Amino acid sequence: MVAGLLLGVSGSSGQPPRSPPRGRERLVAETWPHLLTAVPDGTYAAYGVDGHVHSSISRDARHEPPLVAEMAAAVGLDALVLTDHGGSQGAAVARRPGLLVMAGVEVGGPFGHAVVWGARSHAREYRKASDHSLADVAALTHADGGIIALAHPGWWISHHPHDPRMWMDRDALRRGGLSEALDALELWNGVYPRYTEALLSDWVDLWEQGSEVPIIGNSDFHTWALHHLGTPRTFVLCRVVPDGRPALDEACVLDAVRRGRSYLSRGPAIAWSAEGRIAGERIVAQPGATIDLSIEVQLRDTEGRPVLQVLRGSSVVESRALPSLHSSHQVRVTMPTHDTPLWLRVAYAQEGFATPPFALVTNPITLDVPPARTDTREPAGPQVDRRRYAVGAASRTEWPADRYVRDRLQAQRLNARRARIQTREPAPRRGHRR
Ligand SMILES: [Zn+2]
Ligand SMILES: [Zn+2]
Repeated sequence: MVAGLLLGVSGSSGQPPRSPPRGRERLVAETWPHLLTAVPDGTYAAYGVDGHVHSSISRDARHEPPLVAEMAAAVGLDALVLTDHGGSQGAAVARRPGLLVMAGVEVGGPFGHAVVWGARSHAREYRKASDHSLADVAALTHADGGIIALAHPGWWISHHPHDPRMWMDRDALRRGGLSEALDALELWNGVYPRYTEALLSDWVDLWEQGSEVPIIGNSDFHTWALHHLGTPRTFVLCRVVPDGRPALDEACVLDAVRRGRSYLSRGPAIAWSAEGRIAGERIVAQPGATIDLSIEVQLRDTEGRPVLQVLRGSSVVESRALPSLHSSHQVRVTMPTHDTPLWLRVAYAQEGFATPPFALVTNPITLDVPPARTDTREPAGPQVDRRRYAVGAASRTEWPADRYVRDRLQAQRLNARRARIQTREPAPRRGHRR
C-alpha cells in the first residue's frame, strides 16, 4: 500500500518528469508490523507515532513539511508530530490521507529541551513560557489540551548551565517539584542513543520511588542524510471501536502517552497483557500471588539474536530467545513484596550489536501491593489523576521537593561564577540555544 502511494505521488501530476526534490531520492518504503492486543475490556490496535520531528521550519532542519509527511508515510508511520523549533504551522500544510499529522513544538529553557504535542498557541507564546520555567510551558500546553515531554534528557547541551537530568530527578518530578507537570520523558531519542540504557535504569528507579512518568521514543529527525525518520517510534494503543474500525485520532494519541498505554520500538511489535491488564494499568495483589502474562512478538528480523525479557523493577524474571519472526508466550511471575513496574523489552543477545542494546521497551503495568504504603509517595489511583492533582501554594510548602534541585542549581551557578572570576572569562550570554 505504501509503495502504491509513492507511485501515485510521482506519477499523478501529468507534468514532464523532473528530478525528485532533494531528500526524496533515498526514500525506501518500510513495513513495520502492527499487532492487536485483546483483553476482556476491549481490543486495542498499536499505532506508530514519531513524536519528535523537524521540518524546514526549524533552522537546523532541511525538508519542507509536506515532504517530511510523505517520508513518514513511506516509513510506515501512522502519526507524526512536527515539533519545529520555530513554530507549529507545519502540521497544517503537511496533512495527507492515511497519516495523522499533529502540531507540536520543541522549546528550550533552563531545563534543556521539551517537546509539546497538540500545540494550539503560537510558538512565540511557548518560547516565552519556556524561557521562564518548565512549569510555565507545561501550564500553557495543558491549557491547550496538549502534553509535554522532557526531550533527550541524556544530552547536556553544550554551553548550557544545567544537566537536564536534574528535571527527571525524583524530587523534581513528584508533587511540588520543578517538573511535576511533565506528562512523559523522551528516554529514547534517535539522535542520542548512547544515553538510553542509563536513562532507562534511572527511570525504573523513579517508578519504584513512586514518580510514575511514562516514557516515549522518537527519532528527532532533522534531515534524511543524518537521521532515520520513525526510528525509534512510540506505539500507542488505541481502542478498536465495536464495528472493527480502528480509531486513531489526536485525542487517543495524547491519552495513550499520558497513561503509558504504549511501547517504544525500532522494529519489533508486541502485544501483551497481564491478568487482563495492559500497559498503563495497575494490578493490585498480595505478595506471592501469581500473575499470568500473555505475550505476542513480531520481529522484522532476527539480527543480533533477540531475546524477550520480562522485568519486575530492574530484575529480569524471564528471558526467552526469539528464533522466529513471530512467537507467542505465556509467562507466569509472582507479585513482589513492594510496588514495582512490570515491563518487557526485546534485547539483543549479541554483545555490541547495537546501541542501545535493545529493540523494544514497553511502558509498565504497575504492581501494587496492599496494604497502604508507609512512604511519602502520593496515594494510589489512576495514574492520570495522580499526575493531574491540583497543586496549590499549600502543597508547595508541604512538599519542599524541589529544594534539592534548587540547591544543585545554586551550587552550579556559584561554581561557574568562581571559575569565571579565576579565569577572567566574560559572563555567558543570557538565554540558551534552541
Ligand atoms: Zn532538542
Ligand atoms: Zn529536536
